Amino acid sequence: MKKITVFLSLLIFLLATSPTLLAQKTNISRVEPLNWWANMNSDEFQILVYGNNIGLTKPVINSKKVSLLRSHQLENPNYIFLDIKIIDREVASSFKIEFKKGSKTLAQTTYNLELRKPQARGFSSKDLIYLVMPDRFSNGDPSNDTPAGILEKADRNNPNGKHGGDLKGVENHLDYIKELGATALWLNPILENNMPDYSYHGYSITDFYKTDPRSGTNKSYKKFVQTCHKQGLKVIQDMIFNHCGSAHWMVKDLPSKDWFNSNPDFRSNFRGSVIADPHASKSDQKQMTEGWFVATMPDFNQRNPLVANYLIQNSLWWIEYAGIDAIRMDTQPYPFKEFMADWGERVMFEYPNFTLLGETWLQKTAFTAYFQSGSPVSGDYDSHLQSTTDFPLYYATKSAFNEDEGWTSGLLKLYYTFAEDFLYNDANNNVIFLDNHDLDRFYTSVGEDINKYKMGVGFLLTTRGIPMVYYATEILMPGHEHKGHGHIRKDFPGGWAGDKQNAFTKSGRTKAQNEAFDFMKKIANWRKTSKPVTEGKMMHFLPENNTYVYFRYTKNESVMVVLNNHNTDSRTIKTDRFNEIMKGYSAGFEIISGKKVDISEIKIPKKSIMIIELKK
Ligand code: CA
Repeated sequence: MKKITVFLSLLIFLLATSPTLLAQKTNISRVEPLNWWANMNSDEFQILVYGNNIGLTKPVINSKKVSLLRSHQLENPNYIFLDIKIIDREVASSFKIEFKKGSKTLAQTTYNLELRKPQARGFSSKDLIYLVMPDRFSNGDPSNDTPAGILEKADRNNPNGKHGGDLKGVENHLDYIKELGATALWLNPILENNMPDYSYHGYSITDFYKTDPRSGTNKSYKKFVQTCHKQGLKVIQDMIFNHCGSAHWMVKDLPSKDWFNSNPDFRSNFRGSVIADPHASKSDQKQMTEGWFVATMPDFNQRNPLVANYLIQNSLWWIEYAGIDAIRMDTQPYPFKEFMADWGERVMFEYPNFTLLGETWLQKTAFTAYFQSGSPVSGDYDSHLQSTTDFPLYYATKSAFNEDEGWTSGLLKLYYTFAEDFLYNDANNNVIFLDNHDLDRFYTSVGEDINKYKMGVGFLLTTRGIPMVYYATEILMPGHEHKGHGHIRKDFPGGWAGDKQNAFTKSGRTKAQNEAFDFMKKIANWRKTSKPVTEGKMMHFLPENNTYVYFRYTKNESVMVVLNNHNTDSRTIKTDRFNEIMKGYSAGFEIISGKKVDISEIKIPKKSIMIIELKK
């Protein structure tokens, strides 16, 4: 009996130390980024290798193309990070990484360096952005609705469930988006969200290097971007650095104790104001940046340099891999601002033509301006963001058309918002909108009043900034946010086979929907040709008697926009008051009606907008 025990012990020892078995123990399950590019402007990058006990090995690279500068072991032995320096930046190549113990190689992988072809074009006030929630727009491929290994089954009857929309569905309707006059597409996040529920919106990423199979594959996303480019549409990718989904593979096998901040019970205070507030307490700032957004979204600790670099490289990878034109960064004020600045700087270093848009969901102009690069109010802080989301203007437009004129109400709300533009570096870089995937639908905000709706749309497309339209706002989609996000993210009618209505076509839309669609389409397509609106300056005159007049102008051209917010009365506006800007112009052409107008005196009906090209 004793002999058998000794024999068994010896056998176990021999088996345990056998090179073959150890090699099996060190299987590599992930290498990220999936590849890199030899000719990036920076010649250094970092590779994450994930595998059983990989951190206990010694990585070795024998290559003339690259050198291994250093490796980083973590608390969890299943992770190792390798700092690589690229020596030959002229050619694509591949190199072998061996993971050794003594003289034995326990695992190895081959890593590819390609040659990059930067194509990012960025966006500007010349563009009109169309925002699509891919799950809710169109189901172009029903076969990918519930693939194997995906936790949440598609269920179109559940407002908070996965409905099956995908990239193919968006691609099938690019003509529709172009017809409306959009020039850029912003998709809510398309990376994997393999969560047990609420997996449709995209903001709970479970794999930063993989598109959600229900949207499409990495390859089909890349092809989608190419197709958009061929059709003259730019693509803006939605990214999230503040958090991931709780089903993310790193959450299941934590790299280190400090990879995420605190715990699910410590929630953010959601007050982005504390970042710029000179009187803010450290505890409020800590709660803002280290508190979790929701309990199912672990909060990344970007003060850990490995976390920071992992996220930054991820965005560089998608820019180069997919050829996107811009990034819309979710929850911009929630991660540490210094990290966000590093991210912005590194992206712009690699892609000087790129545009970074930060979601700055802040109530006041000064807080918003703080996050725009070059703002006079940001002090020493430079976010490197060109563009921020203009929530102050959103709040003004949401209520302005519902209100009578008071000292600060009605059209004065618009006026006062613009009067604070001196706080921005360039308010013309602000992304402006009437609604989005988190807000009441605009048609609902204005009480489903088509006249107020038209005022809003006409205003959005002629004021300063980069207009963004949320899908189906052009067909009067209603929706209250407080009833649940499913109510503001309904399926586009006609996006699914068998839908009763197909609002993608003129004949499929109702009379009212066509009125709205045609109205937006006319102004949006005219806008593309209008230098004063897309590139010019703005001059406005104090609202009077429920009317507001502003001009968009260049040296040689001018567009006059008149809003009458009165509920029952038309207005006749004598234009002598605007002499300083109208001097030299003798006639006007109104865009919406397509008619000439007498510009010495403007007659405007109740609750309406006029957009007048001034002629010499
Ligand atoms: Ca589908």
